[in-house]
Amino acid sequence: MSEEMKIPYKIYLTEDEMPKDWYNVRADMKKKPAPLLNPGTGQPMTAAELEGVFCKELVEQELDETNRFIPIPDEIRDFYKMYRPSPLVRAYCLEKKLGTPAKIYYKFEGNNTSGSHKLNSAIAQAYYAKKQGLKGVTTETGAGQWGTALSMACSYFDLDCKVYMVKVSYEQKPFRREVMRTYGASVTPSPSMTTEVGRKILAEHPGTTGSLGCAISEAVEDAVTHEGYRYVLGSVLNQVLLHQSVIGCETKAALDKYGIKPDMIIGCAGGGSNLGGLISPFMGEKLRGEADYDIVAVEPASCPSLTRGVYAYDFCDTGKVCPLAKMYTLGSGFIPSPNHAGGLRYHGMSPVLSELYDQGMMRAVSVEQTSVFEAAEMFARVEGILPAPESSHAIRVAIDEALKCKETGEEKTIVFGLTGTGYFDMVAYEKFHNGEMVDFIPSDEELQASFATLPKLG
Ligand SMILES: *Cc1c(COP(=O)(O)O)cnc(C)c1O
Repeated sequence: MSEEMKIPYKIYLTEDEMPKDWYNVRADMKKKPAPLLNPGTGQPMTAAELEGVFCKELVEQELDETNRFIPIPDEIRDFYKMYRPSPLVRAYCLEKKLGTPAKIYYKFEGNNTSGSHKLNSAIAQAYYAKKQGLKGVTTETGAGQWGTALSMACSYFDLDCKVYMVKVSYEQKPFRREVMRTYGASVTPSPSMTTEVGRKILAEHPGTTGSLGCAISEAVEDAVTHEGYRYVLGSVLNQVLLHQSVIGCETKAALDKYGIKPDMIIGCAGGGSNLGGLISPFMGEKLRGEADYDIVAVEPASCPSLTRGVYAYDFCDTGKVCPLAKMYTLGSGFIPSPNHAGGLRYHGMSPVLSELYDQGMMRAVSVEQTSVFEAAEMFARVEGILPAPESSHAIRVAIDEALKCKETGEEKTIVFGLTGTGYFDMVAYEKFHNGEMVDFIPSDEELQASFATLPKLG
């Protein structure tokens, strides 16, 4: 038997081996990500200002650039134990199908009812809201994964959960909506008559089907106008990357158990939370000069923030109520063409990943959605898991890299993040199977027009 056959299909950690701390990659960055700015004053947001919108301890985590490790509270670890540690799977069947000498592993985050990694941060954010004695939280959801995860987390801690769901998704994804309601969340189609900003938008654009930017503005307004409520966000923020580092810490522990050193780490990037979490401990080694890894962000060609965006301060939402973040952005007014990977349609990118990308510590590629679904289908047929369209962006690039190894004979070890399952995305699969899927790529002119709307500072 060859040496490598000793590696099981699934590497599981025990509960005791599950990380006890989140790893804060900012502590190892010499040049830190740029701070959030107050759009009114142009000055860095203070903790006091942020605490009006976000939970207190989450604000501390947001601003913490020095503590390398932040203990995971026992209450959160206990919840994690219901669906973690998640398996690191050796994709033997995919390798065989591709005929590649590459060794492929994926970290699977779809083994919970919400179906994605988002629960890792949802439970943490709900915990700190409860600890602060709040009544509840508000948020927005586009495709529905984040709203689902947050409603599960809130029901666990008996918190009220108000979700503003982009109207078009509310109507087209009734099953997601009902999962959220099963967990006790109230789900409002956005724009709504519930908020001032919603009423204003409806008066100006009657019949609009809404947007993520509008839903964020409504959720923020709801939180700041109701005593005992705060707003929570499922990606982009430093605190979310911190919570998602549990993915990377588990991955590293599982690889270390078998003495495996990856050459490449690949993940899809929407707001950057799963990728940021997956790569954190590896990036830490790279930043400290202890190891080197080829780290790759994969984004849709229809919403190419890293590969075609600019690194600048921008609004996080279309309604321009949130602080400014310095990030790779396509402009907050950029409306990506329809893309079935709803979780990757964000105009910006995590400030941490943006800074690391700018420093040349990682690279990015963009892929078109029909080729993404080809990869998704091939993966489903050999590995058994029906992947989310978002996750399938990472699958596409992992397959491409493994095929390159087939040509060169290199035995690279490739690790990628499989962020979730695609059971609620069957309309997209249907379009693909019927040959009705179209690839949209924005023109340079469209992007230039969007860049022109970036806020001018100082
Ligand atoms: C939300 C989502 C993503 C993208 O979000 P990130 O913050 O970039 O990780 C990727 N995959 C799935 C399954 C998602 O639900």
